[in-house]
Amino acid sequence: MERRAGAVPVPSRWEYAPAPEATDLVRLEPRYGLFVGGEWVEPRSREWYQTINPAREEPLAEVAQAGGEDVRLAVEAARTALESHWSQLPGSERAKYLFRIARILQERSRELAVLESLNGGKPIRESRDVDLPLAAAHFFYHAGWADKLEYAFPNRRPRPVGVCGQIIPWNFPLLMLAWKVAPALACGNTVVLKPAETTPLTALLFCDVLRQAELPPGVVNIVTGDGRTGAELVRAEVDKVAFTGSTEVGKLIQRQLAGSGKRLTLELGGKAANIVFDDAPIDQAVEGIVNGIYFNQGHVCCAGSRLLVQESVADEVVAKLKRRMGRLRVGDPLDKNTDVGAINSAEQLRKIEALVESGKEEGAEIYQAPCRLPDRGYWFPPTLFTRVAQSYRIAQEEIFGPVLSVLTFRTPEEAVEKANNTPYGLSAGVWTDKGSRILWMAERLRAGVIWANTYNRFDPASPFGGYKESGFGREGGRHGLEPYLAFD
Ligand code: NDP
Repeated sequence: MERRAGAVPVPSRWEYAPAPEATDLVRLEPRYGLFVGGEWVEPRSREWYQTINPAREEPLAEVAQAGGEDVRLAVEAARTALESHWSQLPGSERAKYLFRIARILQERSRELAVLESLNGGKPIRESRDVDLPLAAAHFFYHAGWADKLEYAFPNRRPRPVGVCGQIIPWNFPLLMLAWKVAPALACGNTVVLKPAETTPLTALLFCDVLRQAELPPGVVNIVTGDGRTGAELVRAEVDKVAFTGSTEVGKLIQRQLAGSGKRLTLELGGKAANIVFDDAPIDQAVEGIVNGIYFNQGHVCCAGSRLLVQESVADEVVAKLKRRMGRLRVGDPLDKNTDVGAINSAEQLRKIEALVESGKEEGAEIYQAPCRLPDRGYWFPPTLFTRVAQSYRIAQEEIFGPVLSVLTFRTPEEAVEKANNTPYGLSAGVWTDKGSRILWMAERLRAGVIWANTYNRFDPASPFGGYKESGFGREGGRHGLEPYLAFD
């Protein structure tokens, strides 16, 4: 065939070209107060702290550190809103507000996604394609339930529990807010929510969404601050506490609330097993393993942080995994090509480094993806450990970072035994060609969520929650409504 002159020249080298997301859509105030009774108020504590961009270690805004008096006033505002109108509104009216919030989240999703990545360090691809669509979906889903609670719980006369104190972590700031606020409001409760110290900004921008939706004042109140503010909220006159975070703090809260009559749900840590059998579609499984542990820098309570692979395919899986890890792009969270963003805080980075050190000292073999990390900010390369014994800390403790421990098994019985050999029980993954084996495994795995031939899939209609030290109570689905309702 004759070559045509003037055809587009074939490039000799493919250079990497970043595709940064613009940040001018986000307008940050230099300083944020507390959102109480539908108004921005100055903290009585007169304390402030700086929240930063972990990818650049640059300050973004000053945020209030709410004290005991601030929390008390927020709970009072929530109580007034509850008793004066919100709990008596017909479900169909509450639904309208939830629908409005969901639609505004969709309309403002780019702005919120950029802010989520700026303040938390997660790749824009994830905040844009996962966090924001799921947060809106949670409001849409619960809007649908608001006027159907009598059908969800027939003959049980469901009614609101009251004022809910909600405490959320830093790994999915806006999404965890949606998981907490949407069901509470759908069931006729009012809320005081405390975002995590390091990631308060999307919760504060969400207050603007609430105003735009004309949600009555006091129905949702946001108090920012560190763990001390959380502890004040647990102590305050709330009717229910909903907590997502570490098992350590979860236990503390449970002890604190024992005998108080306050309701409690806990969504805590995990050390999930992602189990690959020799008949699994290996390439697909490798994608699932990568998604399971490197999604959101591994800052995921249900992360597949223990890979259990059948001995006969272990070498093949690990070789393919290493090759795939080499293709992960680590860096600027606002670059649309980035797969792995920044670690959320200096403190979390130290924790990851210490646990990785312990893995080396205990005798595991480390592999880290070859990548150049930015000079500023908090970063950790995608990491893999082989030759891991079940007793090692990296196989037992939640690392909450991009670190995978690989263990092997020979029989399905051994896989179940090893998968369940953990104090946690939040999630698990099973990769196999046989449907019967998936069911056999699912019956025996002690985990709240089990994914089959996929990983990290979320849907507001599907209940999520743990066994053992991963907590109790469910979020999402009909099961997730129950903790927000009182019955006759
Ligand atoms: P925490 O459990 O401390 O944080 C969760 C939330 O609870 C935050 O809003 C936190 O505030 C608040 N809090 C802290 N102390 C108290 C208290 N005494 N009473 C009430 N609320 C409190 O988790 P960390 O951020 O310290 O992370 C530590 C480890 O926890 C991680 O390395 C990871 O292993 C695990 N973790 C698990 C999560 C999960 O989803 N299962 C989520 C986050 C962390 P503040 O942010 O100000 O500390």
